[in-house]
Amino acid sequence: MQIGFIGLGHMGGPMAANLLKAGHALTVFDLSEAALDEAKTAGATLASSPRAVAETSEVVITMLPAAAHVKAVYLNDDGVLAGVRPGVPLIDSSTIDPATARMIGETARARGNPFADAPVSGGVVGAQAGTLTFMVGADEALFETLKPVLAGMGKNMVRCGETGTGQIAKICNNLLLAISMIGVAEAMKLGEVLGIDPNKLASIVNTSTGRCWSSDTCNPYPNILPNAPASRGYAGGFGADLMLKDLGLAVDAARQAKQPVFMGALAQQLYQSMSQQGLGSLDFSGIIKLYGAK
Ligand code: NAD
Repeated sequence: MQIGFIGLGHMGGPMAANLLKAGHALTVFDLSEAALDEAKTAGATLASSPRAVAETSEVVITMLPAAAHVKAVYLNDDGVLAGVRPGVPLIDSSTIDPATARMIGETARARGNPFADAPVSGGVVGAQAGTLTFMVGADEALFETLKPVLAGMGKNMVRCGETGTGQIAKICNNLLLAISMIGVAEAMKLGEVLGIDPNKLASIVNTSTGRCWSSDTCNPYPNILPNAPASRGYAGGFGADLMLKDLGLAVDAARQAKQPVFMGALAQQLYQSMSQQGLGSLDFSGIIKLYGAK
């Protein structure tokens, strides 16, 4: 299939490489020369704008930092919608707010182009391994059409509902993850200070009602889990600044819906504080440093 891919960063670069490996032909665009050079070496054809990408593609995928970039890439004069042929499906895998996803979706549909929001989980490791999970906002027919394309980059494809619901799933999951990580950090540090062996505490939590992904797979206390970021100085993993971005999306969406997110708003402030202290590039489990962990 002739696929257009725009946004070749930490996630988009390896996703595009996997599509090439799966046998698709790729036309790509990015603002970064280095990212373009890498894609060219991997076998992609370079284009001069999002519009030029879209003109020759049977499906277009975007993987951009935030909503402002997505709006520009789709809606500008040299954007995707200016060049794409009617009927060609569009997939945005960036993590953005559901309202922007719906707006782009409506604009695209008015031109005759089906649009799906399909944010991912799995991080850079999942993007490289081709094991991402896609949370897809699309009608049934579009979802079925897109599945074979997404299968070149991921292992799980979940249809969440209509346009925008992929983003809703993504930001609600990350809201919960941010809060659960803070809870585990608070409990682990309190246990240590009160005098229980942290390894003992973690093993009890992990067979008790406090167990969650943040306790049994990514425990923030150092040297509980050898493969967790906490056991290598919080390097790698999911950066606190990326979590802060996702929390901002969740808190903003909640504000628009007039739905309280008491814990989410507090979590946002805690990650903001972590970022202010220059720790934003560490894995988000480094939030335990706010409790006095080294
Ligand atoms: P990134 O900053 O590494 O890459 C973004 C790319 O988009 C860059 O190469 C940049 O040059 C390009 N770009 C920006 N504006 C552009 C424009 N107008 N036209 C063309 N290219 C443009 O970001 P990333 O880590 O790859 O993340 C991409 C998206 O995926 C984000 O929304 C992020 O929240 C989400 N996400 C990231 C991770 C992760 O672990 N990194 C995990 C899940 C989801």
